[in-house]
Amino acid sequence: MLASAAASSDALQRLSTEGAFAVLARARELEAQGRKLVHLEVGEPDFDTPEHIKRAGIAAIEANHTHYTPSAGIAELRDAVAVYAARFRGLEQISRDEVVVSPGLKVLIWNVMAALLNPGDEVIYADPAYQSYSNGAAYLQARAVPVRLSERKGFGIDLDDLAEKISDRTKLLILNFPHNPTGGILTREDLERIAELAVKHDVIVVSDEIYCRNVYDDAFLSIASIPGMRERSVILDGFSKAYAMTGWRLAYGVMPTSIARNVSLMNNNTFSCTATFVQHAGIAALQGPDEPIQAMVEEFRRRREAMVSGLNSLPGVTCVMPKGAFYAFPNVSQITEDDKKLAAFLLEEANVAAIGGSCFGEVGRGHMRFSYANSLENINIAIERMREALPRFA
Ligand code: PMP
Repeated sequence: MLASAAASSDALQRLSTEGAFAVLARARELEAQGRKLVHLEVGEPDFDTPEHIKRAGIAAIEANHTHYTPSAGIAELRDAVAVYAARFRGLEQISRDEVVVSPGLKVLIWNVMAALLNPGDEVIYADPAYQSYSNGAAYLQARAVPVRLSERKGFGIDLDDLAEKISDRTKLLILNFPHNPTGGILTREDLERIAELAVKHDVIVVSDEIYCRNVYDDAFLSIASIPGMRERSVILDGFSKAYAMTGWRLAYGVMPTSIARNVSLMNNNTFSCTATFVQHAGIAALQGPDEPIQAMVEEFRRRREAMVSGLNSLPGVTCVMPKGAFYAFPNVSQITEDDKKLAAFLLEEANVAAIGGSCFGEVGRGHMRFSYANSLENINIAIERMREALPRFA
């Protein structure tokens, strides 16, 4: 038998598993033993994919759209993305050559980073953040420079920290607003200041906008719509969250054509192309009725209220109101700084699955991430289970 260390590359040893998937694995073990858990760990809408999208996928299979496609995606979907993304974000015309399609956004983040970063290049991303950015940087041996999010600002970027850390050595700035794991967003003033810094230091901004449809108070604003930013922005978006299509695996990026060509080369060398009938379903998602998506957002809004007021009613827990995505990121530091221990306790003792905030970076310590992509009933059950169990946490 091979020794496991001998069987893995050095680069692989720099990778970690996304926190949500690690907690989910333990949760499934407990469920196999007959436990009834409430799942607040995974960032996955519990709604069914809207009917018109499912129909389009089935029709595409029946029409034999089941063969390879170009690595950047089929022309019809890229055109549909170009029209939709320009309208939704208030951008000038987007051309098909600026659009790249992929099987989910995670791999497109990876391919964009791999297409742009050399070992030693500096890449700035938020702390806390979705783990793909730090994993990508670690794998590629880029120099990771996390910038703090400010809880006081509702988890917007600490602009002083950014101004201090961004420099002519910075190659990429990765943004993700609405934000996983905190639900924070950026204001127009924030975006303008970030744009100013990006232009000054000639930085490419990768903007992961996968939660752009999940905003509850203010309209979504893309950094690409700030003057001077379109030509240095890589907009990333996906179908998983907005259309409840996590299992279909479909996402897209809009980027300058020179970058799009290089990312397509990465696509060609990793997954060849995205499932053809899934791409056809994506056209239906972008061009079909918007009401099913708005209905999901309305339901998320109700759940957000229940989750945040429930968390704030727990002794020792304080939670700012998230403005986007479908996560609450309460501060539990009055109970413990060891959020991973608290997450393990809640899973084992309260049958509530959630994630320790430090899985997303050091600044997340003393916090937890709760996804409210679950029913109101289950959210309320989880709050009551935690109320009962927390006094026993030691
Ligand atoms: N970016 C962010 C910020 C996410 O939260 C996720 C999913 N949790 C993704 C990208 C990837 O989504 P997918 O691969 O399903 O498109």
